Amino acid sequence: MKRIIIFALLLLSAIPVFAQQSAVERRQNMIREQLIPRGISDKETLKAMARIPREAFVPHSQKPYAYDDRPLPIGDGQTISQPFMVAFMTQALRLRRTDRVLEIGTGSGYQAAVLSQLVDTVYTVEIIPSLAERAYRHLHNLNIDNVQILTGDGYYGWKEKSPFDAIIVTAGAETIPPVLVEQLSDDGIMIIPVGPHRGVRQLIKLTKKRGKIKKTSLMDVRFVPFVRKE
Ligand code: SAH
Repeated sequence: MKRIIIFALLLLSAIPVFAQQSAVERRQNMIREQLIPRGISDKETLKAMARIPREAFVPHSQKPYAYDDRPLPIGDGQTISQPFMVAFMTQALRLRRTDRVLEIGTGSGYQAAVLSQLVDTVYTVEIIPSLAERAYRHLHNLNIDNVQILTGDGYYGWKEKSPFDAIIVTAGAETIPPVLVEQLSDDGIMIIPVGPHRGVRQLIKLTKKRGKIKKTSLMDVRFVPFVRKE
């Protein structure tokens, strides 16, 4: 009897090993099932999504779901965006290696990590200090050293590092902060979710050409709100 129990236990303990896919395989599946069929075709974006381990940016309890097709909670009432949204926004920025990129809403640091693979330096601003610290640790643990994090209200951008060729806002704003438009360089692109508080928002692509601003709506989206310091 004892031997049967031991055998059964051994068998059970082996199941997770067989059932488990490596993180690399899970990322490949994510790319094949969630990104390519929905129009993500930029090679550099796909390469970055294949390289960055999403599980390294989520709390322990969320790791089994790291490659699910949805946002995940990261603490402090915030979320890491759905992989498709990260890839879509990255692709929409049409980045060149030398571009200066500003992200508003560091959150877990995952989006910044993906961007860090495409450009020389990423600047990112987070309003919640504990999240900024965690993001710093996540990036540091992966030896990503070309992301600079500022703790503060992203409504004001990051003046000292401006102008930016690309600005990506990963929190839903009610209106486009004018300071961010000012900090966008000529020929620059900004991607920002805009719309009513707690409602469906539009993912807006804003471009600046010889001082002229053009806005186009890319799709309906839901994002955690862009907050302001009182
Ligand atoms: N890009 C993140 C997800 C961001 S969730 C990732 O890859 O994980 C949106 C983030 O925006 C939250 O962390 C929230 O705290 C932050 N945020 C909201 N309002 C902000 C503001 N005014 N300035 C800077 N960050 C802000």
